[in-house]
Amino acid sequence: MDNKDRKRNISVAVDGPSGSGKSTLSRAAAKELSLVYVDTGAIYRTVGLAALERGVDPADGVAVSELLPGLSITMGYGEDGLQHMFLDGADVTEAIRHNEVSAAASKAAAIPAVRDFLLEMQRRAAAEHDVIMDGRDIGTVVLPDADVKIFLTAAPEARARRRLLELEQRGETADYETILHDIRARDYQDEHRPIAPLKQAADALLLDTTDLDLGQSMNRLLALVKEKIGP
Ligand code: C5P
Repeated sequence: MDNKDRKRNISVAVDGPSGSGKSTLSRAAAKELSLVYVDTGAIYRTVGLAALERGVDPADGVAVSELLPGLSITMGYGEDGLQHMFLDGADVTEAIRHNEVSAAASKAAAIPAVRDFLLEMQRRAAAEHDVIMDGRDIGTVVLPDADVKIFLTAAPEARARRRLLELEQRGETADYETILHDIRARDYQDEHRPIAPLKQAADALLLDTTDLDLGQSMNRLLALVKEKIGP
């Protein structure tokens, strides 16, 4: 079949603030709907990690921009079916989850050159596969023509409680107030940056999970997607 006659890939965009459950839900929905899950936050985290490793201030637009051409950032899918991130060939999937990398990613993500650098990679993933892609600007910037757009949110306190539980389950020590403070700071940073700020696309469906558990959130998400693209 001619390329132009082929049906366009399915794309589901899931945006929302940190800790809204985007990645957990998107990963599970990907499995259920046979889509490839693309975690775009992991890509920004890899840039944040690169800056930290090289002793560059992740908020320094000039220094980070100079770093970009020399970086090799790639995505792959492991035997576990999960997305792995590679920085200059090294698997950094675990390393990018540390708290200081979260903050660095959020700062680096406000730099226009960083967003431009990563845009192509995200669009390519959606062009090559049927995807459910989560992030902050997927429905607004990366995939403005996505078949389904979901804006997933929850109150900061609910997100902080979930994050605390997640860290405790991983055996990390954490404190609720610090987490809540970090979440609010990141929300502010993500919502107020001049480029690609976190905001609900006009045609996105809102899913607020403050009072929903994981199973209920999942059912709602699947229902919204299936309503748009069929079972
Ligand atoms: O989703 P996650 O918390 O892993 O993302 C890390 C950081 O990357 C976010 O705080 C946000 O600033 C940035 N990000 C972004 N655009 C995306 C995905 C993530 O700016 N599409």
